[in-house]
Amino acid sequence: MSEYSQRIEALVANLTLSEKVSLLTGLDFWNTLPLERIGLRSMLLSDGPAGVRGEFWDERDNSLNLPSGTALGSSWSAELSYQYGQTLASEAERKGVDVVLGPTINLHRSPFGGRHFECLSEDPLLTGSLATSFVRGIQDAGIGACPKHFVANDFETERFTANVVVDERTLREVYLRPFEDTVVHGKAWTIMSAYNSVNGVTMTESNLLETPLRTEWGFDGVVISDWTAVRSLEAAKAEQDLAMPGPIGPWGDALIAAVRSGDVDESAIDRKVTRLLLLGIRVGALSEDGVAPAAKQRHNEISTSNVAFARKAAIETSVLLTNRDSILPINFDNLGRIALIGNNALLARTQGGGSATVMPKTVVSPVEALGNILGEKLTYSIGAVVQHGLAELPRREIVNPATGEPGVLVEFLDENGHVFYTENRASTKLMWLGSGAPIEKANSLRITTDFTPNESRSELFGVANARHNRLTLNGKVILDALIPRSNLEPFSELLDPPFMTVPQDFSGGQTAQLVVEADLQNRVGFEAEAFSITLGFEANRAIGDSLIYEAVENSKNADLVIVVVGTNAAVESEGHDRQSLQLPGRQDELVEEVLKVNKNVVVVVNAGAPVLMPWRNGVKGILLTYFAGQEMGNALVDILTGAAEPGGRLPTTWPVEESSLPVSNCTPTGGQILYEEGIHIGYRAWLKSGAETAFDFGHGLGYTTWEFGEASGPAAINPDSEFEVTIPVTNTGARKGKTVVQVYASKTDSLIDRPVRWLVGFAEVLAGPAETAVANVRVRAREFAHWDKGWRYEEGHFELQIGTSVSNIFARHSLQIV
Ligand code: BGC
Repeated sequence: MSEYSQRIEALVANLTLSEKVSLLTGLDFWNTLPLERIGLRSMLLSDGPAGVRGEFWDERDNSLNLPSGTALGSSWSAELSYQYGQTLASEAERKGVDVVLGPTINLHRSPFGGRHFECLSEDPLLTGSLATSFVRGIQDAGIGACPKHFVANDFETERFTANVVVDERTLREVYLRPFEDTVVHGKAWTIMSAYNSVNGVTMTESNLLETPLRTEWGFDGVVISDWTAVRSLEAAKAEQDLAMPGPIGPWGDALIAAVRSGDVDESAIDRKVTRLLLLGIRVGALSEDGVAPAAKQRHNEISTSNVAFARKAAIETSVLLTNRDSILPINFDNLGRIALIGNNALLARTQGGGSATVMPKTVVSPVEALGNILGEKLTYSIGAVVQHGLAELPRREIVNPATGEPGVLVEFLDENGHVFYTENRASTKLMWLGSGAPIEKANSLRITTDFTPNESRSELFGVANARHNRLTLNGKVILDALIPRSNLEPFSELLDPPFMTVPQDFSGGQTAQLVVEADLQNRVGFEAEAFSITLGFEANRAIGDSLIYEAVENSKNADLVIVVVGTNAAVESEGHDRQSLQLPGRQDELVEEVLKVNKNVVVVVNAGAPVLMPWRNGVKGILLTYFAGQEMGNALVDILTGAAEPGGRLPTTWPVEESSLPVSNCTPTGGQILYEEGIHIGYRAWLKSGAETAFDFGHGLGYTTWEFGEASGPAAINPDSEFEVTIPVTNTGARKGKTVVQVYASKTDSLIDRPVRWLVGFAEVLAGPAETAVANVRVRAREFAHWDKGWRYEEGHFELQIGTSVSNIFARHSLQIV
């Protein structure tokens, strides 16, 4: 094992059984158990992966919000991924976090997958290499990374119980591959075992935790369970190490008894504790002198360099899909009025929903950033409603009556109606999850705020949570009802609570005293410890026609129309799969109507995963930002003006229509989900089916042009070797730019089932005008192997196909495996 083996062995030998077992279940929702006697402090684990939330789900506890996993996948850049990891590590340091629960490296098996936005790509190699750099970036700074969810957690429906039926070859070549990379090459210190089962065994009990993870890949780190995924003593017999969260769990006394009775071998417990102590040393939580180290110093100031990285990352990961008539970049000085349209232009969707959520301090929307450079030349219309659920009240318009500061007063009441705990919060959208507040003791919760809208508004106003609520306005009861539960599982319902609203007029400049009291009696388990409530406005969909009409009027005679379309955090979220790939609301209709009055239309797609774009051939420009993080607006301005070139290439295939999707099944039948497509997911499946795609894997445009020279590489290679394919690349345009050289392999005479072509290597190349750079693409011979009870090499001829997307191949090179 490690250089620390002897020291750890001595410590473990000195622990009682009960001490050892107690270390294997969390102290609370996010911390591991400390053991001061041996100099071990608790370790704080935190989501991840597109920002570091820290210990509290609280709008006062801000985090940097980076672009989503899909965006990172679009970078095709090991360097950017490394910097992304380093930035997360710096955020973790600031928030006292020892292990960041990310990257999420399940695959884009289907665009319907609810956590698609969190994952990097449909390709195992691209996912594995970017994730490896991500892990190194975090861990080089002394913070643990946690690639998740091991394995085949590529959908959300019935996620706690579903059994994935998948053949061994597919498992090895496709779904395990990114984990192998992050362990073997990234040396990850932890990984997270998934909720689901694979081939009949739930992942926390699975032999896969032993082979390949420990035996073949040499993983010496901690297997952390997904939250509540350890359900049995069987998991203690497997190579599962830490059960999260705590303090209640299935191990504890039951495991001590099982060891005493001989049902579980004590050596299994020792192995787990050994790995946990090694993690303690790695993250600086276990001292050498036996005095537990102090926890990290926390502070709430996000560094300006990290915010600058968020902007750079958003630029590097935005994908220019279409650029007819070279409409981008835009010289705004030569243009008159610009119409900006779209709900997401105002309420930028910077992240998906679920445990990945962080609370950014600032979000720069397209309206704000474009407004800054265009002033009066910019005219904005919402056009179509995208909002889902209740929108919180504007933070600048609410005052906490107890402090006179912006925000709300939250009071926790006991069964006698006495206030026993209070919080001064900044928002009317609140959540308690593993927080320090005694939410489990509250009999009811009261929120009070003085709302003074800047302008008069007629709204659907109400409250969201599945409890009985009593809402008063200036002392008058306007809603007093039990809000029925949704059909979502508890965690999803917490994130996307059911709501009730009533029509309500608010006069501009006049203060409305708002009080809501939610009944919290009779809650058990997870529901006792977690609660969310939103006080706010429901989108009024009845005014759809007038919104489109207004946007069309705005578009007439504008020199350029920028439409920002997108999804929202509820459409794309952990806890449920997507029902449709269509843009929510009437956004497609909006784009079509705008196109009827103006031909200069650029669409910005602000979604975390593929959406259908039936208007894609009619518009001049399409820029995909994915969920671009908190600097979305600024990055968008940099790209539109040409101050920077969009650096992204698609990490996943975008479909024309749902009916031609080769893999769409995310719903288990009878508890089983069959990965019957085998190794053919993503572009491999599209190539096999031959169906038309909207945009191909690897595609993305820049602002310059390129010429590619002759490819060279070895004529023959041996198994287990590594080699380089080189290709001269000349920038024939007028500005510096980036291109991504992609190397695919193909074997048409193969005796086994193979993809038409598959990615074996890639390299980003940067060059100035008239400059020739050489793309050196490193390729491992392993990329040509297939799994058949071991890695096997088919001898003979393979063709390397070199291109700028899976369908744009411009050079070929012959290779023999000998
Ligand atoms: C998610 C994990 C997450 C954990 C802790 C689970 O529900 O699947 O990705 O890290 O919660 O929030």
